[in-house]
Amino acid sequence: MSNPFWSDIVRDLEPYVPGEQPKLANLVKLNTNENPYGPSPKVLEAIAGESGDSLRLYPDPNGSALKQAIAEYYRVSPEQVFLGNGSDEVLAHIFQGLLKHARPILFPDITYSFYPVYCGLYQVPFERVPLTEDFSIRVADYCRDGRDNGGIIFPNPNAPTGKPLPLADIEWLLQHNRQSVVVVDEAYIDFGGETAIALVDRYPNLLVTQTLSKSRSLAGLRIGFAVGDAGLIEALERVKNSFNSYPLSRFAIVGGVAAFADEAYFREVCGRVIDSRQQLVAELTGLGFEVLPSAANFILTRHPQQAAAELMAQLRQRGIIVRHFQQPRIEQYLRITIGTAEQNAQLVMALQQIIG
Ligand code: PMP
Repeated sequence: MSNPFWSDIVRDLEPYVPGEQPKLANLVKLNTNENPYGPSPKVLEAIAGESGDSLRLYPDPNGSALKQAIAEYYRVSPEQVFLGNGSDEVLAHIFQGLLKHARPILFPDITYSFYPVYCGLYQVPFERVPLTEDFSIRVADYCRDGRDNGGIIFPNPNAPTGKPLPLADIEWLLQHNRQSVVVVDEAYIDFGGETAIALVDRYPNLLVTQTLSKSRSLAGLRIGFAVGDAGLIEALERVKNSFNSYPLSRFAIVGGVAAFADEAYFREVCGRVIDSRQQLVAELTGLGFEVLPSAANFILTRHPQQAAAELMAQLRQRGIIVRHFQQPRIEQYLRITIGTAEQNAQLVMALQQIIG
């Protein structure tokens, strides 16, 4: 399928396919790693306060209030913070502004499937580095004797495995890879990982991205950010200011500030998701599932006697949607987002019935 008016590059794109956002009500939606709990009430209050005459005016193109809030939260300077319309947009600017070189960038063979899509859009050469047998990132595999790379990117915890990488391994990688940018995509870090932001002052080639979509329940508001050396951030600002001056709406800026101000709510929600994850893992293990150790708000799991595609279809018939990747090594696994205690109980009950 093509059209004579398309640019050449559009013909060759293989766009990312996001998880389904079904129109049907009453589905148990465990397919896109959203938070099952709503955002802090203080976020809603802040957004409501914006709805007057202010919307007539453009937002602050720099999002200074939110940069300041993030800088204070992580004890860095606002010049070390970059904001974007979701961390997907931040990542897009990173691929174009920091990872596009003659040498290939490196990322795991099983990882966030948007990375190769950005490589296609921005024509970034890449190589996939296989995870180990047990689906771990082995950082030594990214330091290949005498062969430089154009950059390294991986999520921590990795997606869709959920497996965390210890901070010591990230530091080892930074010590052995000083000639290119290392991007740690921390979309799920607040559910049990250890952030690498503490290392940005010591490693000028480290960039850490995070999002408010998961642990702060704001996927619908679209806020992502990067923290790193001011020199890296400046590259991203240059790309952003050549692309869209106002990536964050007024709602996003005030909502984001309010989200960082409500630490108690944030901790409460993360704690609940982590507790539910532990319980769900125990119950699925009891049903014979193998579950990869997860530090995220989702798990990757398989049943040795049940085909994943069939399990997914059967769950769907019972109104429960989960994610299945038709991809080598993980085609027999399902990725399941941690829901509320009630949703998880429905999932376990449905699986009990299906497995028999
Ligand atoms: N990184 C990873 C690993 C993700 O799974 C996601 C969510 N799909 C994102 C980044 C982007 O999230 P958002 O654009 O909502 O910030």
